[in-house]
Amino acid sequence: MSTRNKEILKIRNLYVNFYTYAGVVKAINGVDLDVYEGEVISLVGETGCGKTVTSRAITRLIPPPGRIEKGEILFRKNSEWIDLLKLDENELRKIRGDEIAYIFQDPSSALDPLYTTGYQIAETMVVHDKADWDEAWKKAIELLRETMIPAPEERVKTYPHELSGGMKQRVVISIALSNDPKILIADEPTTNVDVTIQAELIDLLKELQKKKGTTIMLITHNMGLVAEIADRVAVMYAGNVVEIADIWTIFEEPLHPYTKGLLACVPDPLKKIERLEPIPGTIPNLIYPPPGCRFHPRCPKAMDICKKQRSPRVEIAPGHFVECWLFVSEEERKEAEKSG
Ligand code: SF4
Repeated sequence: MSTRNKEILKIRNLYVNFYTYAGVVKAINGVDLDVYEGEVISLVGETGCGKTVTSRAITRLIPPPGRIEKGEILFRKNSEWIDLLKLDENELRKIRGDEIAYIFQDPSSALDPLYTTGYQIAETMVVHDKADWDEAWKKAIELLRETMIPAPEERVKTYPHELSGGMKQRVVISIALSNDPKILIADEPTTNVDVTIQAELIDLLKELQKKKGTTIMLITHNMGLVAEIADRVAVMYAGNVVEIADIWTIFEEPLHPYTKGLLACVPDPLKKIERLEPIPGTIPNLIYPPPGCRFHPRCPKAMDICKKQRSPRVEIAPGHFVECWLFVSEEERKEAEKSG
């Protein structure tokens, strides 16, 4: 099991706000998450739940008006823990695109239309002093071959507009893999390609992960994709991680009411049902997030305490964590009610 491997990344008490004209959006609300070496961990949840912001905060890629307010992002480098939030921009640049790389959702905007694909792959290696231009060019061809691009010797000379969406995403994957990153963060990597290409890209990621042992953080709202590739899942809602468990537990024994709601929206081809059950209501406006548990206005099990206080995180079984008052002992709940 991946959870027996050592941690490679620890996110602690992370808060991110966006300072907009309409008000302060409290986007990330105290996220705690451990990532283990060699695993595929998936962050799932509805659009706007904080998956992308959390993943970008890892290397401080939060654009203005966003600001990381507090927390720690601990990355294990050569058996030492370094807090990425404390590094200066130069030190961080050596990690971003090298030890931690990203595959973004839209390959068209991730690639520069003015440069050939080969140049863009090779440049990542040269900038990080991993190779000179000659070596980097040869490795670019190898990477295109590994990502199953036909005739890679020719494709390195092509410009992004000459490639299909699926091909562009393979080039983006090649760029991300060029420095053999320890962690690959894939943010909705298959959203902008058609279904057959989606399956091919997922197979490709699975194969590369097996071959290189790269840790993958997959950001998606597609539970089918999660079932296909993830070892563990962290479910996010309105800026909080509400449940973490291995893939089997999430699908077979989900506990948090939001996780249950999310899975109830996924069609099961083996079950005949009249209609899917959507989660009532919508994601709250995070300028004015609901007090207590942020899910309480939509939760069928909400109690009084849920409206006032956030639940502590409870470990139900080894590696299965839930943030919900339903799983806190009655004694502890009463104690919290008294002190709250
Ligand atoms: Fe529902 Fe309360 Fe649990 Fe939140 S803490 S999910 S409102 S039961």
